[in-house]
Amino acid sequence: MQHQPILATLESLKARPPGASRPVAVYDLDSTLFCTGPRNLAIAHDFAAIRPRIQPFVDKLRAEDMGWNVMADLEALGFQDKAVLAELRAFWRATFFTDHYVAKDWAYPGAVDLVRAVAATGCLTYYLTGRDEPGMRAGTLRSLEECGFPLPGPEVLLHMKPSWEDEDLTFKLASFKELHALGDVVLAFENEPANANRFHREFPAATVVLHATIHAPDPEPLDPGVHRVDTLAVLGLELP
Ligand SMILES: [Mg+2]
Repeated sequence: MQHQPILATLESLKARPPGASRPVAVYDLDSTLFCTGPRNLAIAHDFAAIRPRIQPFVDKLRAEDMGWNVMADLEALGFQDKAVLAELRAFWRATFFTDHYVAKDWAYPGAVDLVRAVAATGCLTYYLTGRDEPGMRAGTLRSLEECGFPLPGPEVLLHMKPSWEDEDLTFKLASFKELHALGDVVLAFENEPANANRFHREFPAATVVLHATIHAPDPEPLDPGVHRVDTLAVLGLELP
């Protein structure tokens, strides 16, 4: 039942009258379509090769269970050395936002089928991500392709941050103007409640979905109009 709003939106897209403005579906990538656990795990293992003392704790991590912060995950497993954790934090910052590591992410179950099914109804696919263009575009394209997502082209756009320093939400808010110009936003997927709320307020007719995975600390309350799902594996989805 949690997927009913998505299925209803797909039905209405199929019945869309010819000549109506182009429908647009917006997808965040990190922790929405892609699980970043494997990326974090690979970073932790590569760091452990430099600081072997942390290896037994890294060995207990599982990609699918990792939280927002790999340092916190390791502390929760009993690793207490603050100096080594600070070193890991620096190592993480230098590696997480890179082509090499981003390509390690997994697509969440159902994510590829969902994006493809929505695209098959004639929706423009618009990936909107806080990943930065200079550091992560090549790796993002590689992983979109390896996972089987629709790739950038006339009906698929990949909008990334121009630079790593840009703030994610500010960047996303700045894209709203382009989204209005492109057509009619009918679907938007996010893992951050604050971002999902902004989409809901900007595009009140759209079905805005929060994929409840992981999110930044201290999330704001979700607007009542945002739909929350635990998985993107939508039962009853018509596959193209
Ligand atoms: Mg995200």
